[in-house]
Amino acid sequence: MSRHQYDLVQCMKQPGSRYGFLCQNCDGKCPICDSLVKPTTKVRICEECSYGHLGNRCILCGSNLVDNHSSVAYYCLECVLMEKDREGCPRIINVGSSF
Ligand SMILES: [Zn+2]
Ligand SMILES: [Zn+2]
Ligand SMILES: [Zn+2]
Repeated sequence: MSRHQYDLVQCMKQPGSRYGFLCQNCDGKCPICDSLVKPTTKVRICEECSYGHLGNRCILCGSNLVDNHSSVAYYCLECVLMEKDREGCPRIINVGSSF
């Protein structure tokens, strides 16, 4: 399954202490590779992405998180082994032109 990656830009700032959350649609996906298997390490996002209007949005698709319908994002085992979880805040900051 192919995904259009070219207009997706990740934040990549130094992660803070807040976890990244996913909406129901994106629940269970690794923010790096979209894998749905072997969730391993909780995703931490940067200070900038965890406050204000960004704080309650899905880190992958940017949709508003509804109370009690969001779950913490995890990096999959493969991305952890490749140390992708250390590269920085994985929040998608540019989802096409409509956002
Ligand atoms: Zn992954
Ligand atoms: Zn960020
Ligand atoms: Zn989402």
